[in-house]
Amino acid sequence: MAETHRLPILIIGGGIGGLATALGLARAGRRVHVIERASEFGEIGAGLQIAPNAMHALDQLGVLPEIRKHAVVASRLVWLDAITGERISYVDCGDEFRARYGQPYIVMHRSDLLTVLLEACQQDDRITLETNRDAVAIEDLGDSARVRCADGTVYETDLLIGADGLRSRVRRLLSDDEPVCEPYVAYRGTLPMAMVSEHAGLDNVVMFIGPQMHFVQYPVRRGELYNQVAVFASKRYTPNSDDWGNPDELDAHYAQTCDYVRNSLKMIGRDRRWPMIDRAPIATWTKNRIVLMGDAAHPMLQYIAQGACQALEDSIVLAKAIVAKPNDPRQALLDYQTARYLRTARVQLTARAMGEFFHIDGVGRTLRNAMMSPRKPNDFSMIDWLYGYKP
Ligand SMILES: Cc1cc2nc3c(=O)[nH]c(=O)nc-3n(C[C@H](O)[C@H](O)[C@H](O)COP(=O)(O)OP(=O)(O)OC[C@H]3O[C@@H](n4cnc5c(N)ncnc54)[C@H](O)[C@@H]3O)c2cc1C
Repeated sequence: MAETHRLPILIIGGGIGGLATALGLARAGRRVHVIERASEFGEIGAGLQIAPNAMHALDQLGVLPEIRKHAVVASRLVWLDAITGERISYVDCGDEFRARYGQPYIVMHRSDLLTVLLEACQQDDRITLETNRDAVAIEDLGDSARVRCADGTVYETDLLIGADGLRSRVRRLLSDDEPVCEPYVAYRGTLPMAMVSEHAGLDNVVMFIGPQMHFVQYPVRRGELYNQVAVFASKRYTPNSDDWGNPDELDAHYAQTCDYVRNSLKMIGRDRRWPMIDRAPIATWTKNRIVLMGDAAHPMLQYIAQGACQALEDSIVLAKAIVAKPNDPRQALLDYQTARYLRTARVQLTARAMGEFFHIDGVGRTLRNAMMSPRKPNDFSMIDWLYGYKP
């Protein structure tokens, strides 16, 4: 029989959420072990928007100086009509925005963020990290949890954190819900900035919105690369099949968009697509010594660019809750759940609602543009609840 490794805290999943949580706990003096099923820690080659609420989390993790070396500070968040190319509205992310929220809005390459978190974990000797560990069986033992990996490795831990993403195995102990797939699919990737010529305002986050589609652009990696994301609803969507949302449908759907969007679309890779998937919010994230965080707890549609931001917020609140009640871990996990579940439910449901709003057609599209246009660039009332949060 395989030897059982005893651990005080085990995190399943070495994505942005898992590594940030390891760092938060280690910074507070706790020993943590992270297991990741992939052969190496890594992220896909695309961009990430990080709003001020998550910048506060990165600041508390002590990694902001490193993050700043890779990021671009966004000047504006701009919405344009994808059909006419006309600007509808924008948020000015300049001095007033930064003073209000205490941090800027940044954009960066996903792998740069993961590398910063990973290196910070590797430099902290309270954190141990293992790859090629696929957790296949998880048992709740009341005062501990047991995890068995595909290669036979077994861990018994006083506290188990499920940071294992959208299709979390840990979540199955707490809920029998299933991921909810939209008929929407995303294509994304980066290209050298030298290939981007036409468009002014290259330090903006730009979102073209149109009938059942949106198209996002922003710079990453100190402005050396330009990130693009093209999203649309497939007419061929069928659950339990992968034969929908294909590149031919992408081009056909985008034929209605303005010249700028159509030309930009030509520079997006077609080799991989990401179906848009979330889950309905749940209120129970913890049982005994087991707890969820990040996408495992609250996967959301990416329409307001907050999934990783919410995982970063979780990492701080969870670490603080655990450290505050060293003798009562069950209560600590409940405190974390109470502090987080309504906020993240609001973000999940807002992302769904914003999808409807962005993708509307016909009179609804005209009405949406008419409602958004009068907004002043320094009117922050709609976003205060989201960006004004400090974990
Ligand atoms: C197109 C798109 C654009 C996005 N843009 C943004 C954005 O701009 N801003 C933003 O904040 N968010 C954005 N998001 C959301 C963001 O990517 C996710 O919310 C975030 O990556 C979740 O991090 P996580 O660590 O919780 O989960 P994941 O990144 O899914 O990490 C989970 C990890 O657990 C590992 N794992 C899973 N199961 C096991 C197991 N059984 N054993 C061991 N390891 C396991 C996985 O290999 C993985 O490494 C976007 C998402 C998409 C799809």
